[in-house]
Amino acid sequence: MPPPSPGRAAFLGLGAIGRPMAAHLAKVFDLAVWNRTRERAEQFAARVTARVAGSPREAVLGAEVVLTCLPTSAEVETLLGGPDGILAGLGSGALFLDCTSGDPAGAQRLAARLAEADIAYADCPVSGGTNGAEAGTLTVMVGADPGTFARARPVLACFGKRIEHLGAVGSGSALKAVNNALLAANILTFAEGFAGLARAGVPVRRALEVLNTSSGRSFVTEGLVPDRVLTGDYPNTFRLALLEKDVRIALSFLDAQGIPAPVLHRVGALLAEARKELGEEADYLEAIRLQERRTGIEIRG
Ligand code: NDP
Repeated sequence: MPPPSPGRAAFLGLGAIGRPMAAHLAKVFDLAVWNRTRERAEQFAARVTARVAGSPREAVLGAEVVLTCLPTSAEVETLLGGPDGILAGLGSGALFLDCTSGDPAGAQRLAARLAEADIAYADCPVSGGTNGAEAGTLTVMVGADPGTFARARPVLACFGKRIEHLGAVGSGSALKAVNNALLAANILTFAEGFAGLARAGVPVRRALEVLNTSSGRSFVTEGLVPDRVLTGDYPNTFRLALLEKDVRIALSFLDAQGIPAPVLHRVGALLAEARKELGEEADYLEAIRLQERRTGIEIRG
């Protein structure tokens, strides 16, 4: 008997995190990929077994599952419509997994629009960075009805380790936005505190090691600062513009819940300022380098 043929899947959005996620899916699915800049999709298909599609419609033709990973919900909404859009190619009964760090209201609009075509939708933003995506160990925060979550789980397991159902559509996006707002706060507060320690002559690496066994530690101080900041390496893995977008989503979510958030509003304003100064392509940890430039103190060790 021949082995069972793999299901067909489509992945749209081969950005920094989309590429390694799609590469895992290609090991399991018969995968079609689409990217706005086609050249990036061609480069991807040169090293991973996947078909490059010329349009979103062509990518999703015959697919049982479609995954998107775009900057915001707005870009996903735009790709749905029109003669070359997703809805023109995707059949009823398909599963639509949106791994964009989108906004809860956008996710709900997408789910409603897809439901009219009998397509199940889940918002499933991810956390763990490009390293986590490469290792297949992402955390996936899912908002969906229980039946859709059950269908989504084995697909998400291709690149996810912890796959958590948080509730109805929109709840995955809400948690992701709050997560990244806390991440942003940790980045900015690290930069302030450690610029002060460095100026006072406290040995920075030892101070960090002590902090990381103390109560002020965070993913930033444990997972990011040692290899990216203290070394002065600052690789590009996640655009600061996207983090600023996440904080804005968190703030409108908190505003909609009637929750005062003066600290996170300040974090949002500082990040917006940094985005303006550093531009659209800067990495998120450049916010720390900005503090270094402003104070004339490098945090190295
Ligand atoms: P990138 O900026 O690296 O890539 C963005 C992707 O979206 C590219 O494929 C880009 O295409 C495409 N795109 C941008 N605008 C449009 C548009 N108008 N129409 C169609 N396609 C478009 O982003 P990331 O891959 O880093 O992030 C993607 C999502 O994942 C974001 O929501 C981000 O917040 C989230 N995320 C990112 C993480 C990371 O570590 N990088 C971690 C966790 C979540 P093109 O190649 O043509 O520019």
